[in-house]
Amino acid sequence: MLETHGWASFDASSPLRAHAFQRREPGERDVLIEITHCGICHSDLHTVRGDWGPQSYPIVPGHEIVGRVARVGAKVDKLAVGDLAGVGCFVDSCRTCDQCKRGEEQFCDAGTSFTYASLERDGVTRTQGGYSTRIVVDQDYALKIAAGLPLDRVAPLLCAGITTYSPLRKYHVGKGTRVGVLGLGGLGHMAVKLAAAMGADVTLLSTTRAKKLDAERLGAHDFAVHTDDADWKRVRGRFDVVIDTVSAAHDLGRFVDLLAVDGTLVLVGAPDDLGKLGAFSLIGRRRSVAGSLIGGIRETQEMLDFCAANGVLADVETIAAQQVDAAYARMLKSDVRYRFVIDCGSLR
Ligand code: NAP
Ligand code: ZN
Ligand code: ZN
Repeated sequence: MLETHGWASFDASSPLRAHAFQRREPGERDVLIEITHCGICHSDLHTVRGDWGPQSYPIVPGHEIVGRVARVGAKVDKLAVGDLAGVGCFVDSCRTCDQCKRGEEQFCDAGTSFTYASLERDGVTRTQGGYSTRIVVDQDYALKIAAGLPLDRVAPLLCAGITTYSPLRKYHVGKGTRVGVLGLGGLGHMAVKLAAAMGADVTLLSTTRAKKLDAERLGAHDFAVHTDDADWKRVRGRFDVVIDTVSAAHDLGRFVDLLAVDGTLVLVGAPDDLGKLGAFSLIGRRRSVAGSLIGGIRETQEMLDFCAANGVLADVETIAAQQVDAAYARMLKSDVRYRFVIDCGSLR
């Protein structure tokens, strides 16, 4: 077994702390990745704080993982020792169901093995994530990272990037599409950059007036404070696609009014309460509400390649693992610019 140093949550309320645990020795199709950086997603916070229900602790969170391949099994042909590699939100799936066969492993009918707070295929071993020094993963669930990029700014692509790229592609965002991005945090800032890179006309909708200049710098063409009446009247009814990244409870019925005729609001944020949705706000203008969950391995690689080709990287604040609780506290105050990323050297 491989001794691994992580930073873990032990219950729903205490600060995270150091936790040594064992990873499996790489099997013949596995790669061992020495982790350099891991992004902090709001889902990490939801999970360890019990927002999505009771959990089994300890949990080492983290699913925006990048690092260098240190060892490969005998049958590995996708990656070699020394290559840069990434791991996103899941580490395995059944590989035989319809969802897995069409490359949508995040919807595996037998249950996806998510990167932490989940089970490996043996149904017993609990997965542990990237707030740690190393990870062992089957090569089919690892991503290739192009050389020469700043790795701290690549890490957030593994969740925030793919989670926003996938619905932008699915709903055919391209030149001139009117896209509204709701919430400027980790996911929101990637949605702005990616939609702008696809040629869309992007409006950022925030609660925080002070984010206006940042929104424009990130690529938004317009900015509105959705809690402000005058701003709201100006933008309602405008959008073909709205990407809703809000992490806290909010009223979906109100935000559907942002859509034009035939528009789609795609929910990627995952709060526990979305209020009430009135029938006529949908049927009166043939609007749709959709959900979206990360993306499959094939699409994640496509997104990484798109970002490398278009110079898209996350805007990050790099921290030590010992600062995770302070980062969580700032995320809860919407004070994130625009992704915290752990330098995993702080765990060695
Ligand atoms: P984040 O960095 O904390 O950003 C969330 C943003 O939401 C905040 O910066 C804020 O933006 C806005 N917000 C927060 N509280 C609000 C409130 N009460 N009312 C209105 N807006 C509010 O979070 P994140 O990492 O981007 O994650 C966002 C959500 O997506 C989380 O629920 C997370 O679990 C979920 N998620 C889903 C997937 C998926 O596959 N579907 C993947 C990853 C994450 P402003 O200051 O601009 O208002
Ligand atoms: Zn995430
Ligand atoms: Zn499957």
